[in-house]
Amino acid sequence: AEARTAIEWNGTGNTSDGHRVKVLGNVGSATDAKAAADAGAEGVGLFRTEFCYLDAPAEPTVSEQLASYTAVLKPFRGKPVIVRTLDAGADKPLQFLSPDAEPNPALGVRGLRIAFDRPDVLDRQLEAIAGAAEDSGAEVSVMAPMVATAEEAAWFADRVRAAGIPRAGVMIEIPAAALVAQEILGVVDFVSIGTNDLAQYTFAADRQLGAVAKLNDPWQPALLRLIGLIGRAAKVTGKPAGVCGEAAADPQLALVLAGLGLTSLSMNAPAVRSVGASLASVTYKQCEAAAQAALAAADPASARAAVKAAL
Ligand code: PEP
Ligand code: MG
Repeated sequence: AEARTAIEWNGTGNTSDGHRVKVLGNVGSATDAKAAADAGAEGVGLFRTEFCYLDAPAEPTVSEQLASYTAVLKPFRGKPVIVRTLDAGADKPLQFLSPDAEPNPALGVRGLRIAFDRPDVLDRQLEAIAGAAEDSGAEVSVMAPMVATAEEAAWFADRVRAAGIPRAGVMIEIPAAALVAQEILGVVDFVSIGTNDLAQYTFAADRQLGAVAKLNDPWQPALLRLIGLIGRAAKVTGKPAGVCGEAAADPQLALVLAGLGLTSLSMNAPAVRSVGASLASVTYKQCEAAAQAALAAADPASARAAVKAAL
């Protein structure tokens, strides 16, 4: 059935009645970008720039960064690409940027928090991204990881715009940010939900620890309710809100996320076709019904069963 519906997907991320949900790729290298483009991704919803430098002993120069980013953006000339600024720390340490040993690295100075101490590193990266946008012809937006407050989001957006990049957004992956999504959308152009970290911080359960993996299930109704708040904020403000965590790669959960009001889903290349086909097989009303069923469930297993029944 999967193969049949995949053939029916028209590649534009629409439900059968024409509701737009962009299907985008998650990438960390030029190879990933080519795979995402070949899979039919309409653009890139998450370019993890730190993946370019996991082994770098020193900060790459602006021209080195410009060259790496251009190589990733090239397959998406004329298409939207969201470049995430360096998300160093915790599960993704960078030798040249990670803070000294901390007792709880996931709760420490990571992601955008590093930029408050080192705005020079952020500004050099933004300069490289602006150059790569020009060289590649991609429609580039920039977003920050690990944002906790609207004040942090505003600080970031000002720096992005000062670098000549017209669209600035932030990730929502801390529960506090989800709770003030409307205020955050008041100061940025879009948000993108990182469900991997949002689940980790909502359940206080390490995303790398198998022993607590049950709590990190993206079908957990508590997580879905938090995501629903962000979907509502997107509707109220009329601004885009996407999902770029693993949750978006699940073809059934993708329908729930669309029904919660999210406007794009970004995933690794192998999931692009099946998520696109899943969206194309339902109406938007069915997505909304799936969302209501999942929100009302008591646990992940019942949420999965309720969504199946609602469809
Ligand atoms: C996330 O946290 O869901 C996310 C997309 O970012 P990363 O997995 O890179 O932390
Ligand atoms: Mg994250």
